[in-house]
Amino acid sequence: MSLLRLLPLVVLLVLSTLPARAATVLLRDADMERALQQIAAPILSAAGLGSSGVKIMVIDNGSLNAFVTDPRHIFLHSGLIMRLGSARELQAVIAHEAAHIANGHITRRMSNVRNASTAAGLGMLLSVAAAAAGSTDAAAGIAIGSNSAAMRRLFSHTRAEEAAADAASVRYMLRAGADPVGAKEVLDLFRGQEALSLGRQDPYMRTHPLTRDRLRAVEGMIAGHTGIPEDATANYWFQRASGKLSAFKRAPDWTLRRLDASGSRDIALMREAVAWHRQSNLSKALRAIDGALAIRPGDAYFLDLKGQILLESRQFGAAVQVYQAAAARAPREPLILGGLGRAHLAAGNPKGALQALEQARARDFRDARILRDLAVAYAQTGQLAMASVVTAERYALMGRMKDAELHAKRALGALPRGSSAWQRADDVLIAAKRAK
Ligand SMILES: [Zn+2]
Repeated sequence: MSLLRLLPLVVLLVLSTLPARAATVLLRDADMERALQQIAAPILSAAGLGSSGVKIMVIDNGSLNAFVTDPRHIFLHSGLIMRLGSARELQAVIAHEAAHIANGHITRRMSNVRNASTAAGLGMLLSVAAAAAGSTDAAAGIAIGSNSAAMRRLFSHTRAEEAAADAASVRYMLRAGADPVGAKEVLDLFRGQEALSLGRQDPYMRTHPLTRDRLRAVEGMIAGHTGIPEDATANYWFQRASGKLSAFKRAPDWTLRRLDASGSRDIALMREAVAWHRQSNLSKALRAIDGALAIRPGDAYFLDLKGQILLESRQFGAAVQVYQAAAARAPREPLILGGLGRAHLAAGNPKGALQALEQARARDFRDARILRDLAVAYAQTGQLAMASVVTAERYALMGRMKDAELHAKRALGALPRGSSAWQRADDVLIAAKRAK
């Protein structure tokens, strides 16, 4: 989980390139994202979007919000996931966002905004979304109209859209066999916030205006559907996603006191490993994660955590071996390949790192850490122009378009015109110019 737990070898490089205030920080973690995707899959299918057609991504933000920017992503704030109590509540949130996608509520307004299939496009969308949710400093680096009222309109839904999304979301929940009472439980979370001033409301209230009518309508829709049993599989994935998230976000002592509330023994051990690791107790962390692996032998995502623990404890050779085992079991998982690349880099093997990180980036351009490590690997293998390309993409992803432009220009000057790397740099440059 990328909570800026910095790798010692690259710590200086990172500190010198981190922005004073990052616009929107995606919280990337292979295990958490896989769990969220498992929870979402039946809902997305029921919405006609395909079980893996929409990627569920987490934003490192303690406030409560969920939103869509384009048809390929649903964004959840980490604070919302930690606040929800069960899989059915999370499924209700996802169903509501899926309805906004399926009903075309976003795309209708989005003709001016670049799509989210490149680092620059996604970075711009996230910056605008952050501004729309009320964190105005997030828009400092960019200026799409630089009019926060316009941005708010872009990402806030009308009451009619909310009513349509609620109705569709309850249909999706029922079609997926999920208990739609989750939809009412989510709305109850925001009860009473209507009376608060804008600044004190959760951003969810701004993106999805809540009215008493909405709650009443949802209560009416779910009234005839009681007694749907809880989905044990979905709840396992919910406990795993929210348990890993809270283990990284809360104080380790808090986690260690609440291991019994983890839902299952393997999740409790995984959380215990995170807590001990954050207290720099390597032996206890390893004992815990090995315990989790004994319950789920060869679980690539537990191996991923073990690799991270070893890497951040400077056991570079062991980290490479564990990440290799994880990557062998989940060869299509970009964030695990990213971990393998990072471990290779730390172990002084930039060629091995380059191979893993290029594969990782080709599968997923949305991880700033992969882009950062890839730039280091390019630089260490003498490919400075390529280092500039991925650095430009990393800044663009973070919404720092001025820095992105600088590195894109450097890359364009050094690469063969029209090559695929040249085109990636050009894409960033075009986005930077448009942002002006
Ligand atoms: Zn909504």
